[in-house]
Amino acid sequence: MADYYDLLGVGQTASPDEIKRAFRKLARELHPDRNPGDDEAEARFKEVAKAYETLSDPDKRAHYDRFGESGAAGNPFEGASFGDIFDAFFGGNSPFSGFGGGGGPTGPARGDDLEVVIDVPFEDAVLGSQQPVDLRTYAPCEPCEATGEVAGSHVSTCETCGGAGQVRQVRRSILGQMVSTGLCPQCEGAGQTIEDPCGDCGGQGRVVVEKTYTVDVPAGVDTGATLRLSGRGAAGVRGAGTGDLYVRVRVLAHDRFERSGNDLLAELAVPMTVAALGGDIEFETLEGVETISIPPGTQTGKVFRIAGAGVPSLQGGRRGDIRAVAICLVPEKLTSEQEELLRQFASARGDEVGESKSLLSRIRSALG
Ligand SMILES: [Zn+2]
Ligand SMILES: [Zn+2]
Repeated sequence: MADYYDLLGVGQTASPDEIKRAFRKLARELHPDRNPGDDEAEARFKEVAKAYETLSDPDKRAHYDRFGESGAAGNPFEGASFGDIFDAFFGGNSPFSGFGGGGGPTGPARGDDLEVVIDVPFEDAVLGSQQPVDLRTYAPCEPCEATGEVAGSHVSTCETCGGAGQVRQVRRSILGQMVSTGLCPQCEGAGQTIEDPCGDCGGQGRVVVEKTYTVDVPAGVDTGATLRLSGRGAAGVRGAGTGDLYVRVRVLAHDRFERSGNDLLAELAVPMTVAALGGDIEFETLEGVETISIPPGTQTGKVFRIAGAGVPSLQGGRRGDIRAVAICLVPEKLTSEQEELLRQFASARGDEVGESKSLLSRIRSALG
């Protein structure tokens, strides 16, 4: 059997979330209900589920990392059906139904959690802001008040699944007997059949809508931060609870600043004369203008700190600084007067400089 991490297509340092997502994606592709009669898909599905079973458990994962497969606990399929594994993983909310399904004696499962990525401008991430989040989601159907039925419609227990919302299927394959639990095709997991379903939602009690939420992005967030909006995910089937919305932040690059922990790094352009003689330079921070005092003899690479002008700490600690790195600038073009002065300066220092290229200064030195 291949390496568990390879099977799931994740790195050894993958987070539990990444592992979960990778498994969920593969499981959808390879599930036997999606690939009837495809033995290869079935075999891969089995391997992937086994890999997930180990890597999703912190103890088993640590054990596997140290000892490999031979050290992993026994075959998780002994005595367990795929249905059990899926129920454990998806909480009974089958991913194979277009409508989320669920259902059964414990009532329909709540709607799915959703995840969206938002791009946040650099300043907004440092200083905090409100950002719009657009998404496509399920909302309760209004005409039927999320019941899925026309008022007064007769509701009866589904005959196919006896109200469980799920049916078990047993198949034989070269790998042995496969037991899977799938969504009831008759009631789509609700456990009940409606005589007169709502025309707007087709009996699901929810409809697809485009929504825009506004999220508070706290000052100091960085790329990868995830904000959880409880109850802002997809509505469940027929009034079942609503999932959560996870907003993943991606911070856009800034043209002058770069983040280093809670400090902001930037370049500070210092004219050659100011670097040599000293002087004040105005520097634009994210919130205003600060004056940086440059001492005489400043070299390129010297770091000037503006305390407390960096990134606020998410943990409530001290705010970071701006670290501005001096870049001493040599003029690219000189007027003949400036060149003359600089030549006098070089001669006073005894610096050997090249011949002048300017016609005027050649005439001057010929006359002098
Ligand atoms: Zn049914
Ligand atoms: Zn409806």
